[in-house]
This record gives sequence, C-alpha cells and structure tokens, in this order.
Amino acid sequence: MNFYPVWPPPATRAGWIRLDCHLHTLVSGDARTTLEELAQRVEAVRLDVVCITDHHAIEAAETLRRELRIRVIVGEEIRTPSGEIIGLFLSERIPYVLPVPEVIHRIKAQGGLVYAPHPFDPERAGLREPVLEALVAAGELDIIEVFNAKIAEPAHNLAAVAFAQQFDIAPGVGSDAHDPEGIGAAFMEVPDFDGPHDLLASLRQGRVVGEYRPHAARYSRRQSAEPAARDGTPYSQETAGSTWRV
Ligand SMILES: [Zn+2]
Repeated sequence: MNFYPVWPPPATRAGWIRLDCHLHTLVSGDARTTLEELAQRVEAVRLDVVCITDHHAIEAAETLRRELRIRVIVGEEIRTPSGEIIGLFLSERIPYVLPVPEVIHRIKAQGGLVYAPHPFDPERAGLREPVLEALVAAGELDIIEVFNAKIAEPAHNLAAVAFAQQFDIAPGVGSDAHDPEGIGAAFMEVPDFDGPHDLLASLRQGRVVGEYRPHAARYSRRQSAEPAARDGTPYSQETAGSTWRV
C-alpha cells in the first residue's frame, strides 16, 4: 500500500518534526494496534513524536517511551459527562467518571495540557461549544483539534479551525488511528519543541497534513497536499501565528 505519491515521504525542513497529537493502541480496548506495530509504523511513515491517547490508560504510552524508544507524549482520552477530553503530558491516569472541572484540575495539577478532540463532530463524543467556550473563558483550553482524520464531514474540522482562530487557541492534529494503517493519516509539521509550553508555541506555527479516513476500509492513497475535501481527499493548512490559510 502506498501512503505518499513520493516514497519515502520528503524530509521535514531543518529543525522541524512530524507530530501526531491523537492515536490509540490496543490498550484502549477499541483499537488493535500492538505496541510493536505502532513502533514500526511510526518509523515507516516518519513520524517523530506521537501523543498516545488511549482511553483511560497510560501504560502503553509509558512502555513505548521506555522500552521501544519512541518519542512519546503520554496522553489519555478521558470520558466525562460532558464529552471526551484529552490530557497530554500526563504522569498519572485520570478516571473517566469525573466531571469536566475535576478532569481539568487533574490534568493541570500534573503540568499537563488540555486538548479538545473532534469538538464539532455530532457523531463523536467531543466537548460541545458551550463547554468549550466556558473553558476558553477560564483560560483552561490549551489545544483544539482542527483536523481529525476520522471525521466523516470536513465541515466539522473547519468549524474547529474557526473556533481556534476566533479564540486564539493552539491547533492540534490527530490521526485518531485505532489500527496500524491509520497511523500517518494526519499529522502536523512543527518546529521541534521541549515540553508543554514550547509545544503550544510550535503548534501555532505548524503545518497540517492529513487525509480523511472515517472508515478504515476506505483508506486511500495520499496525494499531494491540496484543499480540504471529503473522505480520502488530502488536506493541508498553513498556520502562522493565528493567521491560517485554509
Ligand atoms: Zn481517540
């Protein structure tokens, strides 16, 4: 299977890296990617940093980082009564029965970042707009996912782009892969970074690369990066400060 019209994919520019902010391993319970498969695939598609965001578990991320030498940001996708939240840069697992303010508190207490996945997709359990706006007002939302490769309707990603621009929130990009083949479907090219604060600055300068892959069986070949469109069609977006070209 080909994933790029030009293989191997071109190198990122000097000092930049490829980052996937949102993906899963079999530890999630609803994904089938083993840790070995993830490590192989990350290398094959030339990702440099991956945020492992299993549902309610962080041990796979820690194992990947420690034993398989993958550059990992430990994350967790956490169900709340108001929708799912991702915490990044975690060191302790957060339970899934807690209300949003408590989850936010626990993420921040660990020095982590609050990331809103697939926020405007009515088919997915993201945080809804009133909750997002309350988080913004409280200064608690760090990253909003402006491209999720598994969204079936591109307008939902574009709504997240508009939200990020309106409220000046750092953008994130996730393959949300639950299988090895999905890893690499979307990522962000960003200046390399060191730690959470630095990551936020890098995301604001990043370049989004992705293709829609709402159903695994419909995965299609990556083409060159061109404007947003439907399933299987590639997409790219430059970010420079908060002024984006879509
Ligand atoms: Zn997810």
